Amino acid sequence: MKNSNNMLHFTFLGTSSGVPTLTRNVSGLAIRNSKNKDWILVDAGEATQHRIQQAKLSLQSLVAICISHAHGDHCYGLVGLLASAGMNARTAPLTIIAPKEIQQWIEVTAQLTDLHLPYPLNFIDVTEATQILSLTDELSIQAHPLSHRVPSFAFSIIAHYTQKKLDTQALVQLGVPKGKAWGDLQHGQDIQFNQQTLKATDFTQIQTQRIHAIVGGDNDRPELLEKACQDVQLLIHESTYTQAVLDKVGSGPMHSSAKRVAEFAQQQGLSNLILTHFSPRHQDYAGQQAIAEEVRKFYQGNFYLAHDFDQFSLDDIGQLTKIEKS
Ligand SMILES: [Zn+2]
Ligand SMILES: [Zn+2]
Repeated sequence: MKNSNNMLHFTFLGTSSGVPTLTRNVSGLAIRNSKNKDWILVDAGEATQHRIQQAKLSLQSLVAICISHAHGDHCYGLVGLLASAGMNARTAPLTIIAPKEIQQWIEVTAQLTDLHLPYPLNFIDVTEATQILSLTDELSIQAHPLSHRVPSFAFSIIAHYTQKKLDTQALVQLGVPKGKAWGDLQHGQDIQFNQQTLKATDFTQIQTQRIHAIVGGDNDRPELLEKACQDVQLLIHESTYTQAVLDKVGSGPMHSSAKRVAEFAQQQGLSNLILTHFSPRHQDYAGQQAIAEEVRKFYQGNFYLAHDFDQFSLDDIGQLTKIEKS
Protein backbone atom coordinates (compact mmCIF):
# COMPACT_ATOMS: atom_id res chain seq x y z
CA MET A 1 0.00 0.00 0.00
CA LYS A 2 1.30 3.41 -0.87
CA ASN A 3 2.26 5.65 1.98
CA SER A 4 -0.28 8.42 2.57
CA ASN A 5 0.15 11.59 4.53
CA ASN A 6 -1.69 10.35 7.58
CA MET A 7 0.62 10.51 10.54
CA LEU A 8 0.87 10.92 14.26
CA HIS A 9 2.97 13.88 15.42
CA PHE A 10 4.75 13.76 18.76
CA THR A 11 5.96 16.87 20.61
CA PHE A 12 7.94 16.39 23.81
CA LEU A 13 6.89 19.04 26.34
CA GLY A 14 9.01 17.77 29.23
CA THR A 15 11.77 15.14 29.44
CA SER A 16 13.21 15.54 32.95
CA SER A 17 12.52 13.08 35.75
CA GLY A 18 11.44 14.28 39.20
CA VAL A 19 12.29 17.96 38.99
CA PRO A 20 12.44 20.53 36.19
CA THR A 21 15.90 21.77 35.18
CA LEU A 22 16.90 24.88 33.24
CA THR A 23 16.67 23.05 29.92
CA ARG A 24 14.03 20.41 30.57
CA ASN A 25 10.60 20.47 32.12
CA VAL A 26 8.92 17.54 33.90
CA SER A 27 6.84 15.02 31.92
CA GLY A 28 4.44 15.99 29.16
CA LEU A 29 3.96 14.68 25.62
CA ALA A 30 1.57 15.90 22.94
CA ILE A 31 0.40 13.47 20.25
CA ARG A 32 -1.45 15.03 17.32
CA ASN A 33 -3.44 13.55 14.47
CA SER A 34 -1.90 15.03 11.28
CA LYS A 35 -5.27 15.02 9.54
CA ASN A 36 -6.80 17.67 11.77
CA LYS A 37 -5.85 19.48 14.96
CA ASP A 38 -7.01 16.81 17.41
CA TRP A 39 -4.40 15.99 20.01
CA ILE A 40 -3.89 13.96 23.17
CA LEU A 41 -1.74 14.99 26.13
CA VAL A 42 0.06 12.25 28.04
CA ASP A 43 1.11 13.53 31.49
CA ALA A 44 1.03 17.11 32.66
CA GLY A 45 3.92 17.93 34.96
CA GLU A 46 3.99 21.41 36.50
CA ALA A 47 4.13 24.24 33.91
CA THR A 48 3.08 21.96 31.05
CA GLN A 49 0.67 24.70 29.98
CA HIS A 50 3.58 27.06 29.27
CA ARG A 51 5.16 24.36 27.11
CA ILE A 52 1.84 23.91 25.30
CA GLN A 53 1.77 27.63 24.50
CA GLN A 54 5.36 27.57 23.29
CA ALA A 55 4.64 24.55 21.12
CA LYS A 56 1.64 26.44 19.65
CA LEU A 57 -0.86 23.76 20.56
CA SER A 58 -4.42 24.82 21.26
CA LEU A 59 -6.26 23.77 24.40
CA GLN A 60 -9.45 24.02 22.32
CA SER A 61 -8.51 21.05 20.16
CA LEU A 62 -7.25 18.93 23.03
CA VAL A 63 -9.30 15.71 22.96
CA ALA A 64 -8.04 13.87 26.03
CA ILE A 65 -5.50 13.99 28.82
CA CYS A 66 -3.94 10.74 30.03
CA ILE A 67 -2.08 10.72 33.32
CA SER A 68 0.24 7.73 33.68
CA HIS A 69 0.45 7.86 37.49
CA ALA A 70 -0.12 10.14 40.44
CA HIS A 71 3.47 11.33 41.02
CA GLY A 72 3.82 15.11 40.95
CA ASP A 73 6.27 15.27 38.04
CA HIS A 74 3.52 13.75 35.88
CA CYS A 75 0.42 15.58 37.10
CA TYR A 76 1.09 18.82 39.05
CA GLY A 77 0.38 20.89 35.94
CA LEU A 78 -3.04 19.40 35.35
CA VAL A 79 -5.35 21.63 37.38
CA GLY A 80 -3.75 24.87 36.13
CA LEU A 81 -4.07 23.66 32.57
CA LEU A 82 -7.76 22.78 33.04
CA ALA A 83 -8.41 26.21 34.56
CA SER A 84 -6.70 27.95 31.64
CA ALA A 85 -8.76 25.97 29.12
CA GLY A 86 -11.81 27.30 30.97
CA MET A 87 -10.53 30.89 30.85
CA ASN A 88 -10.00 30.39 27.12
CA ALA A 89 -13.73 29.65 26.88
CA ARG A 90 -13.51 25.97 26.12
CA THR A 91 -16.98 24.41 26.11
CA ALA A 92 -16.32 21.01 24.55
CA PRO A 93 -16.16 18.07 26.97
CA LEU A 94 -12.66 16.88 27.86
CA THR A 95 -11.81 13.26 28.57
CA ILE A 96 -9.35 12.54 31.37
CA ILE A 97 -7.96 9.02 31.70
CA ALA A 98 -6.07 8.78 34.98
CA PRO A 99 -5.78 7.03 38.32
CA LYS A 100 -8.88 7.73 40.42
CA GLU A 101 -6.84 9.76 42.94
CA ILE A 102 -6.45 12.37 40.22
CA GLN A 103 -10.22 12.83 40.00
CA GLN A 104 -10.44 13.34 43.77
CA TRP A 105 -7.56 15.80 43.65
CA ILE A 106 -9.18 17.83 40.85
CA GLU A 107 -12.52 17.90 42.66
CA VAL A 108 -11.04 18.95 46.02
CA THR A 109 -8.84 21.62 44.39
CA ALA A 110 -11.77 22.98 42.40
CA GLN A 111 -13.84 23.18 45.58
CA LEU A 112 -11.12 24.83 47.68
CA THR A 113 -10.02 27.33 45.03
CA ASP A 114 -13.37 28.44 43.60
CA LEU A 115 -12.70 26.79 40.25
CA HIS A 116 -15.74 26.33 38.01
CA LEU A 117 -14.94 24.82 34.65
CA PRO A 118 -17.27 25.91 31.83
CA TYR A 119 -16.94 22.50 30.15
CA PRO A 120 -17.63 18.96 31.39
CA LEU A 121 -14.86 16.56 32.36
CA ASN A 122 -15.42 13.01 31.24
CA PHE A 123 -13.36 11.18 33.82
CA ILE A 124 -12.30 7.60 33.09
CA ASP A 125 -10.52 5.55 35.76
CA VAL A 126 -7.40 4.28 34.02
CA THR A 127 -7.96 0.77 35.39
CA GLU A 128 -11.12 0.71 33.29
CA ALA A 129 -9.31 1.77 30.12
CA THR A 130 -7.49 -1.51 29.53
CA GLN A 131 -9.76 -2.27 26.56
CA ILE A 132 -9.42 -0.17 23.41
CA LEU A 133 -11.37 3.03 23.88
CA SER A 134 -12.36 5.22 20.96
CA LEU A 135 -11.74 8.97 21.46
CA THR A 136 -12.48 10.37 17.99
CA ASP A 137 -13.29 8.88 14.56
CA GLU A 138 -9.60 8.19 14.14
CA LEU A 139 -7.93 8.10 17.55
CA SER A 140 -8.22 5.38 20.17
CA ILE A 141 -6.39 4.57 23.34
CA GLN A 142 -5.67 1.59 25.56
CA ALA A 143 -3.98 1.51 28.97
CA HIS A 144 -1.46 -1.15 30.06
CA PRO A 145 -0.41 -1.64 33.71
CA LEU A 146 3.27 -1.14 34.60
CA SER A 147 5.40 -1.54 37.72
CA HIS A 148 6.28 1.52 39.84
CA ARG A 149 6.02 2.82 43.42
CA VAL A 150 2.39 3.78 42.78
CA PRO A 151 0.08 2.26 40.12
CA SER A 152 1.48 3.37 36.77
CA PHE A 153 0.28 2.83 33.19
CA ALA A 154 1.42 2.97 29.59
CA PHE A 155 -0.92 4.11 26.83
CA SER A 156 -1.32 2.69 23.36
CA ILE A 157 -2.18 5.54 21.02
CA ILE A 158 -3.81 4.12 17.93
CA ALA A 159 -4.74 6.05 14.81
CA HIS A 160 -7.03 4.39 12.31
CA TYR A 161 -7.60 5.90 8.91
CA THR A 162 -10.04 4.58 6.33
CA GLN A 163 -10.03 5.65 2.75
CA LYS A 164 -12.31 4.80 -0.15
CA LYS A 165 -10.18 3.89 -3.17
CA LEU A 166 -11.60 3.90 -6.68
CA ASP A 167 -10.60 1.01 -8.96
CA THR A 168 -9.39 3.35 -11.70
CA GLN A 169 -7.80 0.55 -13.70
CA ALA A 170 -11.12 -1.22 -14.16
CA LEU A 171 -12.82 2.04 -15.10
CA VAL A 172 -10.18 2.84 -17.71
CA GLN A 173 -10.55 -0.66 -19.16
CA LEU A 174 -14.30 -0.23 -19.48
CA GLY A 175 -13.76 3.17 -21.07
CA VAL A 176 -15.65 5.10 -18.39
CA PRO A 177 -14.53 8.72 -18.81
CA LYS A 178 -12.88 10.50 -15.89
CA GLY A 179 -14.81 13.31 -14.24
CA LYS A 180 -18.38 13.19 -12.97
CA ALA A 181 -18.80 9.41 -13.42
CA TRP A 182 -15.68 8.66 -11.39
CA GLY A 183 -16.67 11.21 -8.77
CA ASP A 184 -20.16 9.70 -8.41
CA LEU A 185 -18.74 6.20 -7.93
CA GLN A 186 -16.20 7.47 -5.44
CA HIS A 187 -19.06 9.02 -3.47
CA GLY A 188 -20.94 5.74 -3.41
CA GLN A 189 -23.41 6.50 -6.20
CA ASP A 190 -24.19 3.93 -8.89
CA ILE A 191 -23.95 5.26 -12.45
CA GLN A 192 -25.36 4.41 -15.88
CA PHE A 193 -22.81 3.68 -18.58
CA ASN A 194 -23.45 2.13 -22.02
CA GLN A 195 -26.95 1.07 -20.91
CA GLN A 196 -25.48 -0.71 -17.92
CA THR A 197 -25.61 0.07 -14.22
CA LEU A 198 -22.17 0.29 -12.71
CA LYS A 199 -22.39 -0.26 -8.96
CA ALA A 200 -20.24 1.92 -6.74
CA THR A 201 -19.53 -1.02 -4.45
CA ASP A 202 -18.00 -2.95 -7.37
CA PHE A 203 -15.58 -0.16 -8.17
CA THR A 204 -14.55 1.07 -4.74
CA GLN A 205 -12.59 -0.53 -1.98
CA ILE A 206 -12.15 0.52 1.62
CA GLN A 207 -8.52 0.70 2.66
CA THR A 208 -7.54 1.06 6.28
CA GLN A 209 -4.29 2.27 7.73
CA ARG A 210 -3.24 1.92 11.32
CA ILE A 211 -0.58 3.67 13.35
CA HIS A 212 0.27 2.41 16.82
CA ALA A 213 2.63 3.94 19.38
CA ILE A 214 3.02 3.15 23.08
CA VAL A 215 3.87 5.84 25.60
CA GLY A 216 5.00 4.45 28.93
CA GLY A 217 4.73 5.97 32.37
CA ASP A 218 7.37 5.34 35.03
CA ASN A 219 8.21 1.63 35.04
CA ASP A 220 10.97 -0.70 36.17
CA ARG A 221 9.73 -3.72 34.17
CA PRO A 222 9.57 -3.00 30.42
CA GLU A 223 8.76 -6.68 29.79
CA LEU A 224 5.25 -6.00 31.09
CA LEU A 225 4.65 -4.39 27.69
CA GLU A 226 5.52 -7.54 25.76
CA LYS A 227 1.99 -8.31 24.62
CA ALA A 228 1.05 -4.67 24.01
CA CYS A 229 4.15 -4.20 21.86
CA GLN A 230 3.31 -6.98 19.42
CA ASP A 231 2.30 -4.71 16.55
CA VAL A 232 3.67 -1.43 17.84
CA GLN A 233 5.63 0.87 15.53
CA LEU A 234 7.12 3.09 18.23
CA LEU A 235 7.81 2.70 21.94
CA ILE A 236 8.39 5.79 24.07
CA HIS A 237 9.75 4.76 27.47
CA GLU A 238 11.44 6.25 30.49
CA SER A 239 15.16 5.68 30.94
CA THR A 240 15.87 7.52 34.14
CA TYR A 241 19.43 6.22 34.60
CA THR A 242 22.22 4.23 33.04
CA GLN A 243 22.59 0.72 34.46
CA ALA A 244 25.64 1.75 36.55
CA VAL A 245 23.71 4.57 38.20
CA LEU A 246 20.63 2.41 38.70
CA ASP A 247 22.81 -0.19 40.44
CA LYS A 248 24.12 2.54 42.74
CA VAL A 249 20.71 4.08 43.43
CA GLY A 250 19.13 0.68 44.00
CA SER A 251 15.73 -0.66 43.04
CA GLY A 252 13.77 1.58 45.47
CA PRO A 253 12.70 4.30 43.02
CA MET A 254 11.45 1.61 40.58
CA HIS A 255 12.75 3.14 37.36
CA SER A 256 14.32 1.66 34.24
CA SER A 257 17.88 1.95 33.01
CA ALA A 258 18.77 2.51 29.37
CA LYS A 259 20.08 -1.07 29.24
CA ARG A 260 16.86 -2.54 30.53
CA VAL A 261 14.69 -0.73 27.96
CA ALA A 262 17.16 -1.34 25.13
CA GLU A 263 17.31 -5.08 25.83
CA PHE A 264 13.54 -5.30 25.87
CA ALA A 265 13.23 -3.36 22.60
CA GLN A 266 15.83 -5.64 21.00
CA GLN A 267 14.10 -8.84 22.17
CA GLN A 268 10.79 -7.58 20.79
CA GLY A 269 12.36 -6.56 17.50
CA LEU A 270 10.94 -3.05 17.85
CA SER A 271 11.96 -0.78 15.02
CA ASN A 272 11.65 2.57 16.82
CA LEU A 273 12.42 3.63 20.37
CA ILE A 274 12.43 7.06 22.01
CA LEU A 275 13.80 7.40 25.52
CA THR A 276 12.81 10.19 27.90
CA HIS A 277 12.44 11.06 31.64
CA PHE A 278 16.16 11.47 32.32
CA SER A 279 17.50 12.03 35.80
CA PRO A 280 19.06 15.53 36.10
CA ARG A 281 22.46 13.83 36.45
CA HIS A 282 22.11 12.47 32.89
CA GLN A 283 21.11 15.71 31.23
CA ASP A 284 24.49 17.19 30.35
CA TYR A 285 26.42 16.16 27.27
CA ALA A 286 28.36 13.39 29.01
CA GLY A 287 25.24 12.05 30.71
CA GLN A 288 23.34 11.86 27.43
CA GLN A 289 26.32 10.22 25.72
CA ALA A 290 26.43 7.57 28.43
CA ILE A 291 22.73 6.76 27.94
CA ALA A 292 23.08 6.70 24.14
CA GLU A 293 26.11 4.40 24.27
CA GLU A 294 24.29 1.99 26.53
CA VAL A 295 21.28 1.87 24.20
CA ARG A 296 23.50 1.33 21.17
CA LYS A 297 25.19 -1.57 22.90
CA PHE A 298 21.96 -3.50 23.47
CA TYR A 299 19.61 -2.32 20.70
CA GLN A 300 20.07 -2.31 16.97
CA GLY A 301 16.92 -0.40 15.95
CA ASN A 302 16.30 3.27 15.37
CA PHE A 303 16.39 5.29 18.60
CA TYR A 304 16.40 8.85 19.92
CA LEU A 305 16.89 10.47 23.29
CA ALA A 306 14.16 13.09 23.59
CA HIS A 307 14.79 16.76 24.41
CA ASP A 308 12.10 19.29 25.24
CA PHE A 309 10.33 20.51 22.08
CA ASP A 310 11.67 17.66 19.96
CA GLN A 311 9.12 16.71 17.34
CA PHE A 312 8.68 13.42 15.54
CA SER A 313 6.25 12.00 13.04
CA LEU A 314 5.23 8.38 12.67
CA ASP A 315 3.49 7.20 9.51
CA ASP A 316 1.38 4.15 8.73
CA ILE A 317 4.31 2.14 7.42
CA GLY A 318 6.05 2.65 10.75
CA GLN A 319 8.56 5.21 9.61
CA LEU A 320 9.66 7.52 12.43
CA THR A 321 11.11 10.87 11.40
CA LYS A 322 12.56 13.59 13.57
CA ILE A 323 11.25 16.94 12.41
CA GLU A 324 14.12 19.38 12.23
CA LYS A 325 13.35 22.79 13.69
CA SER A 326 13.39 25.61 11.20
ZN1 LIG B 1 8.50 10.45 36.99
ZN1 LIG C 1 6.92 8.19 39.23
